[in-house]
Amino acid sequence: MFDRVPFFSRPRRGHRRARALQGVFLAVFAPVGWLALQALQGVSPADVARAHPGLMAYMLLGTMAAFGVFGWLLGREEERLSRLAMLDELTGLANNRLFGARLEECLVASRRSGRPLSLLLVDMDRFKDINDSHGHQAGDLALKTAASVIRSSIRASDVAARIGGEEFAVILPETGTKEAADVAGRVLSGLRGADVRLGDGTMVNLSASIGLSGGIPASGESGFALFAQADKALYKAKETGRGRLVTA
Ligand code: GH3
Ligand code: MG
Ligand code: MG
Repeated sequence: MFDRVPFFSRPRRGHRRARALQGVFLAVFAPVGWLALQALQGVSPADVARAHPGLMAYMLLGTMAAFGVFGWLLGREEERLSRLAMLDELTGLANNRLFGARLEECLVASRRSGRPLSLLLVDMDRFKDINDSHGHQAGDLALKTAASVIRSSIRASDVAARIGGEEFAVILPETGTKEAADVAGRVLSGLRGADVRLGDGTMVNLSASIGLSGGIPASGESGFALFAQADKALYKAKETGRGRLVTA
């Protein structure tokens, strides 16, 4: 259902500084390499250093500056790639990969602390009709709006993800199912009141069905079990009329 990423669970920060420092450190090898070459030719490195202090300083500082800047640029690129690998491009929410990893992390934390964890699965209702009636671009706008409704309905410590085309998931750490139901209610009413206006002035109405599961995970219980329970509840929400929350 989702990939597990046990060793790299979220976009890392600080690549730039780390790579710049590595570059600055490695610059030491420019003068050291030169002195080693001189030594191989039978010239004492100490004599070379004494005779050409300016050259030594130039090799060290110049290489430090070049490697430092190169390291910083490399780190910036690594940060960008990390973000691409972990975030959904359309909505900026976590992607399926990051979601799977965070769910496992949150399960472990919940088991350790003895505090409950809840999971919401949010599936947009009749989304195909939005695409069919207004076009794919309108569908994309609707997805972005849904993502911002979800983001504004949760705490900063919760994890919102887009785990499929028009499917979202929210991990609510340290949250029981009652409290999570309030969050789901905020998402449902936020979607109902969302303002998706197309270029020609047409309004698109949003609605979603939500499945909720939660509790303190038993030892050995994986994210799949919690996910399966929420998925079953979501299925029931679809079956019983859509636009509603069903708790597992
Ligand atoms: P239900 O209420 O049963 O969930 O109906 P539904 O139409 O939402 O479900 P269905 O699975 O039949 O269709 C999902 C639709 O979501 C089909 C697909 O075109 C659309 N979709 C998936 N990903 C994207 C996307 O990235 N952008 C847009 N615009 N549409 C998408
Ligand atoms: Mg779906
Ligand atoms: Mg749907």
